[in-house]
Amino acid sequence: MLTMIIRIFVLVLPFFVITQTQVQAQDSDFQYQKTEVKGAISVLHGAGGNIGVLQGDDGLLVIDDGFVFNSGQLESALAAYGDAPRYVLNTHWHGDHTGGNAALGEATIVAHENVRIRLAAGSTVPGREAEPAPQAALPDFTYKEGMSIHFAGQEISAVHFPVGHTDGDSVIFFEPAHVVHTGDLFFSGAFPFIDPDSGGSVAGYTANVAAIIALLDNDTVIIPGHGPVSTLDDLKGFQNMILETTAAVRAFKADGKSLEEAQAQGLSEEWVGWGDGFINHPRWISILWSGTD
Ligand SMILES: [Zn+2]
Repeated sequence: MLTMIIRIFVLVLPFFVITQTQVQAQDSDFQYQKTEVKGAISVLHGAGGNIGVLQGDDGLLVIDDGFVFNSGQLESALAAYGDAPRYVLNTHWHGDHTGGNAALGEATIVAHENVRIRLAAGSTVPGREAEPAPQAALPDFTYKEGMSIHFAGQEISAVHFPVGHTDGDSVIFFEPAHVVHTGDLFFSGAFPFIDPDSGGSVAGYTANVAAIIALLDNDTVIIPGHGPVSTLDDLKGFQNMILETTAAVRAFKADGKSLEEAQAQGLSEEWVGWGDGFINHPRWISILWSGTD
């Protein structure tokens, strides 16, 4: 029975995650907000994953492209730059990061090979069965470990990180700008979603966050998958939250508590505000519960 309850929690989770953001983003008044990041790099945010934009002399390089139902708003927001998208990079396959691919299909779409495989096959996230993506939405170029694009005076390196948020996560590094887009390996100031149905794992996610931190320094400007433009200290705070809440869940288990008892008791006051995003406290506890020994 307990296993079944846990399973139900895991199964319905993505449904709630998606519907909550859909409600916000389908508002007809919705518009993307632009924030300057550094040099020619900016970010569009307000619905779905953060959209990174690098403006060159002859086009745009776009990282992730929001929900499919915000494609019109995205095209308007990109048109305001006065240049057309030339490259689109996807940090992973989730629909709040790749939904605009078809609308931007004239550009060259680049992603890890598992992004293409999952988009082509359709989603298996329970509660939200996505159809196989149209041809125009599929990445044109794929890689196993990574690749670099030289554009607008930057070397933009997409680096695959193993099993974490999904099995097709990439982190995008801009040098010499010293800017990074982490995709959903970083939810700034919020509990993250980790998707085991797409090959993600709590242990892998935690290891990837540590690996990313080791590659950055205090001058790096970080565009997270969700949340405001951040610093290395913010990412370290996120790592600390994962480690401490994982330890708390392990302690619940060691005390012989059930998932429901752990959720009823909750996490330390310290993490109160972290549950205000997509993933609230009970859901974060259930993610950790199913992902830890
Ligand atoms: Zn995601």
